[in-house]
Amino acid sequence: MDNKQITNLQKAVREFGSPLYIYDASKIQENYKQFTEAFKVEKLKVHYACKALNNLTILRLFKAMGSGLDCVSIQEVQLGLTAGFSPDDILFTPNNISTEEYEEAIKLGVKINVDNLITLEYVGMNHPNLPVYIRVNPHLMAGGNQKISVGHIDSKFGISIHQIPHVERIAKKFNINVMGVHVHTGSDILDPEIFIKAAELVFSVVEKFDSVTHIDFGSGFKVAYKEGDLHTDISSFGKKFSQSFNDFCEKQKRQYTLEFEPGKYMVSNAGYFVARTNVVKQTTSCTFIGLDTGFNHFIRPMFYNAHHEIENISNPTGDKKIYNVVGYVCETDSFALDRIIPEVRKGDLLLFRNAGAYCATMASNYNSRPRPAEALIHEGKLHLIRRRETLEDILATQVEVEIEF
Ligand SMILES: *Cc1c(COP(=O)(O)O)cnc(C)c1O
Repeated sequence: MDNKQITNLQKAVREFGSPLYIYDASKIQENYKQFTEAFKVEKLKVHYACKALNNLTILRLFKAMGSGLDCVSIQEVQLGLTAGFSPDDILFTPNNISTEEYEEAIKLGVKINVDNLITLEYVGMNHPNLPVYIRVNPHLMAGGNQKISVGHIDSKFGISIHQIPHVERIAKKFNINVMGVHVHTGSDILDPEIFIKAAELVFSVVEKFDSVTHIDFGSGFKVAYKEGDLHTDISSFGKKFSQSFNDFCEKQKRQYTLEFEPGKYMVSNAGYFVARTNVVKQTTSCTFIGLDTGFNHFIRPMFYNAHHEIENISNPTGDKKIYNVVGYVCETDSFALDRIIPEVRKGDLLLFRNAGAYCATMASNYNSRPRPAEALIHEGKLHLIRRRETLEDILATQVEVEIEF
């Protein structure tokens, strides 16, 4: 982090308070460009997975770059429409939702991705001619963390590849227009080869439906959280993958649209989380840094055991020391143990890297704490894009009743 960046971040905290999420628009633009340029195919469409970071300003940035949206709830669909996306550019990929929610999405005109056979029958019966995607579960184990691998045999996501004959039967019976085949093998794929394997399985499904025009390979692109981490080399992956995709198009004598729905890849490294040191506490065995935040604002370290790099932007050149960085929630909430950081003093601002994806969107009001503000740096200018919550926001949904206790 250079001095100018540090000055900018400190200025943001002075203006908008701490803790604070800060996003760098130019990084998102760079990621999007790198991603789309990696694939050498005739037709490519990216649907940004907005559950990673759903601020309206960020969604508008994606729209301006030509991206579509991948939404997993009707509320995300509504956010997307509010941000100005056309329904055509929104793919609705939910899991285990009610029929009513599907109906709402169909009414809004977004593209529907069907996750199970019952829903496929329902759609066939009630919405003949509606073009749909089908989500296929190829049963490939992707990544090491049970919580974030969604393709393996016990996964709740998608229609099993072994049930494709049923899909065929239902599609035929109701004359369903299967416009897309979708697979999302899960986050944190360590081995890009898994995509190529998944692709072959998906191609074998595509071959069975003449109506298919779009093939969506979801996401799972891995980013580096610290130096030396394995990550997806997008340009070499894109080259390899485009080759096998183009071969398939050639074999089928038609041009499919290649689709992806990256979330983390687009925004993870574009986000910073900055918090202030409330307490530096020396015990007999270690030193705790107590921050003005906790897992209510930033849960990935506790929830996924995720590593986030931490910098002391108030004392970047200080002597390095070993710390346990913890939160203020009344539960054990450790951001990092035995972490080497330039000396931290009361009041110092600590910066967490890779705080763009699945950080602000996972924040809660636990301990009755308001959620942090969000800011965007765009062309050198600082913008507040979500104000800090207040106690009034927390009270807003509570209903006072007249009960004599
Ligand atoms: C979460 C999700 C994504 C994005 O995954 P990342 O690992 O953040 O890129 C894409 N598609 C679907 C269906 C998802 O649920």
